[in-house]
Amino acid sequence: MSYLMQLVCPKCSTSYPAGRVYGLCPCGSPLLATYDLKEAAPGFRPESLAGRPETMWRYREVLPVRDPSNIISLGEGFTPLVRAQRLGRHLGLDRLYIKEEAANPTGSFKARGLCAAVSMARELGIRKLAIPSAGNAAGALAAYAAHAGLESWIFMPEDTPRANIREAEVFGAHVTLVPGLITDCGRIVAERKDAEGWFDVSTLKEPYRIEGKKTMGFELAEQFAWELPDVILYPTGGGTGLIGMWKAFREMEKLGWIGPARPRMVSVQSAGCAPIVRAFEKGLRQAEPWQNARTIASGLRVPRAIGDFLMLEAIYESRGTAVAVDDQELIGAIRLCGNLEGIFLCPEGAACLPALRRLVEQGWISAGERVVMFNTASGLKYLDVLQ
Ligand SMILES: *Cc1c(COP(=O)(O)O)cnc(C)c1O
Repeated sequence: MSYLMQLVCPKCSTSYPAGRVYGLCPCGSPLLATYDLKEAAPGFRPESLAGRPETMWRYREVLPVRDPSNIISLGEGFTPLVRAQRLGRHLGLDRLYIKEEAANPTGSFKARGLCAAVSMARELGIRKLAIPSAGNAAGALAAYAAHAGLESWIFMPEDTPRANIREAEVFGAHVTLVPGLITDCGRIVAERKDAEGWFDVSTLKEPYRIEGKKTMGFELAEQFAWELPDVILYPTGGGTGLIGMWKAFREMEKLGWIGPARPRMVSVQSAGCAPIVRAFEKGLRQAEPWQNARTIASGLRVPRAIGDFLMLEAIYESRGTAVAVDDQELIGAIRLCGNLEGIFLCPEGAACLPALRRLVEQGWISAGERVVMFNTASGLKYLDVLQ
């Protein structure tokens, strides 16, 4: 089953035994799960995956749940990798692919992370979960908590897309709408969690959401027959997907599944909230908080991310880049991709398209390169904000 070994702080290198409840490292950094990959390698091979369930749990050896009866699954992961030939031709690319994360339960890739986190909560005996969310994480937490029979408390900005609010309510969560941003919601959870007995499932404040998200990296490798793409465009908020995929590539290399070649990682943000792009442009290792964050891409409205240094590290190490896109551009991109591919991008995923156009025009991406852009949720969840 799982080869989970211990949790390690990427900042101060302290390690902690698995099997206990953790939040952040006392030094303030997120903790990352490590696996005994040497021990796993002989028996865990690409061939081992044949016939396994078409969910992210096909990679269970490198996921943290030790007792399979604790896995709370709604069928998350192993989403389609769609060849976008017409859109590619339009942009001057021969090999463009869309990783279609709308196919996940609750219609967004947040299902992956929260599936892992809720499964681990069950394994560790946690019963009350709280989350600050820009929207999709709330829906996903509420769904998995309901499926597990656990309680969830959700804090979202009051202008979150209606679909996110409705789904959390339908799943029986305790929903509070907050006048402010996700960072304000995070403050409320932090202030009240001890008195209320909540476990804080904020992005990277618990160690397992990223483990669910990293399966996107395993899937890309498997779907491309163990040869990674040249470029990955990722709409970045808290950055778990970016950090998670980067971690997955390292784990797969240690397992002997791939070589040292890596995709160039492109972080895409909205011009109305682009702390990572600004930090990248200044060559910084950490991002300054963004003031007056504003964008209809609610998942990208994250003015301060606790994993900023890990995101920037992945971008620099991969010789990637970071691009900011105006809301007007991304709204146009939703229609373009809908027309050419029959895929209804969410505003966050749509941000990848103008970024891609710019990078092709600048010659940063060449026509023959294999490029993957992430559509992180279904456009159908945003009907009210897209009007
Ligand atoms: C949360 C979210 C993002 C940002 O993901 P991170 O991994 O936190 O950077 C992007 N798109 C959508 C639709 C989201 O819900």
